[in-house]
Amino acid sequence: MSDWQVAVIGAGPGGYAAAIRCAQLGMKTVCIDQFTDANDQPSLGGTCLNVGCIPSKALLEDSHFYHKIKQGHSAFDIPSVSVDLGRLQERKQAVVSRLCKGISQLLQGNGVHAITARAQLTRAGEILLDNGQSLSAKHIILATGSIPIEIPPAPFDHTRILDSTDALSLTAVPPRLAIIGAGAIGLELGSIWGRLGSEVTILEALPDFLPTLDRDIARIAQRPLQQEGLNIQLGCRVQAATVKKDQVEVCWEHETGTEKQLFDKVIVAVGRRAATDTLLAPDCGLELDNKGQIPVDDYCHTELDNIWAIGDIVRGPMLAHKATEEGVMVAERIAGEQTAVNYDLIPSVIYTHPEIATVGKSETQCKSESIDCHSSSFSFAANGRALAADESIGKVKLVGEKIQSGTAGIEGTRILGCQVVGPSAAEIVQQAAIAMEFGALAEDLALTTFSHPTISECLHEAALDLCGHPLHQLKKPKR
Ligand code: FAD
Ligand code: AMP
Repeated sequence: MSDWQVAVIGAGPGGYAAAIRCAQLGMKTVCIDQFTDANDQPSLGGTCLNVGCIPSKALLEDSHFYHKIKQGHSAFDIPSVSVDLGRLQERKQAVVSRLCKGISQLLQGNGVHAITARAQLTRAGEILLDNGQSLSAKHIILATGSIPIEIPPAPFDHTRILDSTDALSLTAVPPRLAIIGAGAIGLELGSIWGRLGSEVTILEALPDFLPTLDRDIARIAQRPLQQEGLNIQLGCRVQAATVKKDQVEVCWEHETGTEKQLFDKVIVAVGRRAATDTLLAPDCGLELDNKGQIPVDDYCHTELDNIWAIGDIVRGPMLAHKATEEGVMVAERIAGEQTAVNYDLIPSVIYTHPEIATVGKSETQCKSESIDCHSSSFSFAANGRALAADESIGKVKLVGEKIQSGTAGIEGTRILGCQVVGPSAAEIVQQAAIAMEFGALAEDLALTTFSHPTISECLHEAALDLCGHPLHQLKKPKR
């Protein structure tokens, strides 16, 4: 007889969601997490709440506010403003603590037993804790998340050469800051420190900016980021970062040679890897793949009976909401339900200004898959609410394919994807995601009444354009 029906290792958005759902479904559940905060207290919520999504968004909000005030307004006389970084960090930490306590209460309220320890899977059904105790469970859900990737040219010293966790807790604004990697995390951290006063250089090895986006969306996004102060250098592969007294000398190669510059701090933001280094005992029966992740099927089931793995430690995008949906799916499958995650419709957001968000297929992707698609768009510059808010940069883009006859003999344009750069991009993409999840046609969105004036009207207009009869832009109606 096992001690527990379900043991979850990891209390990030994947693990805590899985544990709550298991308990709701009547299973006796334990959730083990090793994370402790600066005061050595357990702090549930994983990377996302402690050192990821939430603290970064708190700092992004405040730094944006500060930057806006500093930029001024034609109608206001604003006295000089300065930032108190200590208070900024305190507010961030208060948000984090409140949410982490909330997770603790949710687990408790649902009857999940939480243990603070580092766990290892010793064999199917058995777990060893670093306090020497062991426990058994009928089902085990592995949800240990991910850690920052370290690259040989720039090993972390956590003082001058930083990972994302260090970069979220700086106590002074570095005058000259280099960021290696122009992915979501690099761009968000660059935005925070650039707005607060750093001179930011982002070094990206690839020649294209955000290569998975449609080129027009990436182009629209890049310019304002550069105007905000991010010096984004593409095609620059960092070869060395050497600490020299109080600074770091960064050396990189580009198409025409090499360059060297001194910075006060360097943030390495080249991606994350699965936190699986000590998770599996050598003879536990599971093996990692060549990326260090745990191989699973479409339902997060590993090769071993009753062992599941979710979130950043398995294939797919490293995103909090993907981890959560997988956690819920696994809990419900353990309970005998047939739940599945729709991996085609996982939205993705970069919280810069302008914000960048996508769901489904891009036009580029459709073309590479030989899908006979067509696209439409609507610019925020023609939207009343966006103009009123002085947020007119960017656009909503939809991609669709004509369907001659659906199951009910319907003709129309099936929405395949939505990409947005501009105000409320994440919220607009979420609306498109809901529509796509329900199999909506562009005609369905076109027939939906949108409040006026709203930023969301741009989605309506893009849908009208996809149907061939835009209302607020001059294009020849197609029918
Ligand atoms: P995690 O959240 O990493 O949680 C895993 C937990 O398991 C941790 O608490 C860890 O300490 C614990 N653990 C690890 N090993 C063991 C062990 N052996 N025993 C016990 N416990 C263990 N995603 C988004 O969707 N939106 C964003 O805006 C976003 N912003 C981000 C910003 C930053 C700076 C970073 C770093 C990440 C961001 N992410 C964002 C990614 C997001 O944080 C992750 O995708 C998400 O946290 C993954 O959830 P998870 O449950 O798989 O693992
Ligand atoms: P992401 O995986 O989206 O967080 O993005 C990380 C980015 O870092 C990718 O776009 C990589 O191309 C980039 N990158 C990785 N190694 C280097 C390097 N040595 N120099 C510059 N950029 C790098």
